[in-house]
Parts: sequence; structure tokens; C-alpha cells
Amino acid sequence: MSEFRKFLFEGLPVRGVVVRLTDSWQELQGRREQPLPAAVTALLGEMSACALLLQGNLKFQGALILQMAGDGPVKLAVAEARTDLSYRATANVTGAVPQLGAQGFNLADLLNVHGGGRCAITLDPDDRPQGVQPYQGVVPLNDEQAGRFGRLAEAVEQYMKLSEQLDTKIMLAADGHSAAGLLIQRMPLAGEGNLEGGGLDAERAAELADAFPRLALKVGTLTREELLQLPMDDLLHRLFWEEPLRHFEPAAPRFACTCSRERVGRMLVGLGREEVESILTERAEVEIACNFCGAPYRFDAVDCAQLFQAEGSVAASPGGVH
Ligand SMILES: [Zn+2]
Repeated sequence: MSEFRKFLFEGLPVRGVVVRLTDSWQELQGRREQPLPAAVTALLGEMSACALLLQGNLKFQGALILQMAGDGPVKLAVAEARTDLSYRATANVTGAVPQLGAQGFNLADLLNVHGGGRCAITLDPDDRPQGVQPYQGVVPLNDEQAGRFGRLAEAVEQYMKLSEQLDTKIMLAADGHSAAGLLIQRMPLAGEGNLEGGGLDAERAAELADAFPRLALKVGTLTREELLQLPMDDLLHRLFWEEPLRHFEPAAPRFACTCSRERVGRMLVGLGREEVESILTERAEVEIACNFCGAPYRFDAVDCAQLFQAEGSVAASPGGVH
């Protein structure tokens, strides 16, 4: 079963989240009309796990959307996680994809062949007023010193550092069977300002300052196999058995899509009347499958005429199937 847990370390300014997707992850893949190449499946698995980790780390009601836009064989990959831990993911592949290696895919080969790849994170709150754009942060898939990121986790750690000024350590792994991730993050110290004022003795201050890098080193020793296969209790024990670990009630992420006939209709309007009419000259109806869940939506000539009629009174919203 898919599993999700938050944890913290008593008395230390570090918290974490761990997730493993199994049944829900297989269901997501089964919804596609065409299976994706193994490396792209692994990319989407890591992105799904990562979106859930980031969502779990926020106090926020709505959708967190992790998007990778690329200049390689993968043009766009999207994973979305909602507050209730439902998630979905899809990718647009247009070129030959390299084989999935034993240690996972190389992000640069999939999305950043010419150095133009980007990673964007969007926070779309449930109560966002119409017409207001959701918050989005973007970072390139390159580091000024290290060059192109090979691992998705590195790109997202960089994102957290640049956009949120938060030290984060992330491990991710995925294959066709499961997708998993573990994240720890340094929390701001309460009363940090007191440090220099002698509010803490030097030993305690050093212990607090040292906690994140020390725990991050432990997290870095996780192997791909452990992350994908070890039962979650064993995994946390293996890493943190010497630490004052407290974990919270486990929760179960699930695959779910939020597509609707209305949204697909808006996408058709976004395509334009000319495009839609040219499809209707060849076929009796326009058939579109949701990119995320494969649900089929059919619009015949009358439906389409109504869509474009309605467009006159209601402003069309451009974009894909949301
Ligand atoms: Zn759908």
C-alpha cells in the first residue's frame, strides 16, 4: 500500500517526510493508453514522490504542481499533489529516450540536453480568487559551479535553497513498481536571535547548528534499493535509530484526477474554432483523453457549437486539461 509519514527529531530543528507509492503508482501508469519509456516512468515516479514530500511539508490547502520543462526528448513533465495526498502525473515525450540505468535516469539526458531545462513549482490554493495567478517559482536545471543536475533531487534541493532559503536534503527513486522519497529540512530556530546573546550555552548552540548537516549525511547513505523496498519502519530505524525520532500517523496517498468535461471543453475552446472544425470535417466527434487519467471525453458538432457560443459570454481560459 502507498504510505506517507511525517517525522521530527525531538529538540532538534529538523523535520522530515517519507513517502512510498506502490498500488497507486501502478494504477497511475495503468491509466495511460501508451506505456511510457522506463526512464520517463522513473522520472514521473520521482516527481510524484517529490510533489507529495513538498506538499506534506507545507501548511497549505490546494495543489502543489511540480513541472519540468525541457529541451531533450521530454518536453514537459508534470506531477501534482493535493493536500489530501491525492496525486497525478503525466509527461510529453517527443524523442528517443535513453535506457533507464541501474542507478536511475540522468535528468540532463531527459530534460536538459542543451542546458535550457527548467524546474517550476506552483502553489495553487483551493481558495484562489478567479483571475489571480497562482504563485510560481522557477529555477534552471543547472548549477553555476556543478553544471547540469543529473538527479531530480539535486534540482529540487537547489530550488528550495534559492526560492525558499531552506536547507533541504532529498532522496528519490522510482521504477515501474514503486516510487519513493525522503526529505529532511532545517527549521528556523525559535529565538535564534538569542544565540549570540547567550540564550544558549555554546555546546547546545553547536548541537543545534550541527543537526541538519549531520542528519543530511545519514540520509545521503540511503540506497536506491532501501528507498524502494525496505519497510518504512525499518527504513527510518536504519537511518535514525540513534536519534530522538518522533513520527506521526501514517497516511495513504492515492491516485486521483481532477479533470472534468467542463475543463476539457475549455481546452477545446483554447484550441480555437478553426482547429476544432477541421477535426469535425474528418470525424463525427472530437475525442480527447485526459492526459493524466486517460478518461475519454467526446464532443460532437452540436457540443462544439455550444462551446464556442458560450465563449462569447464567458472568457475562455487557455491552457491544458487541469
Ligand atoms: Zn483526468
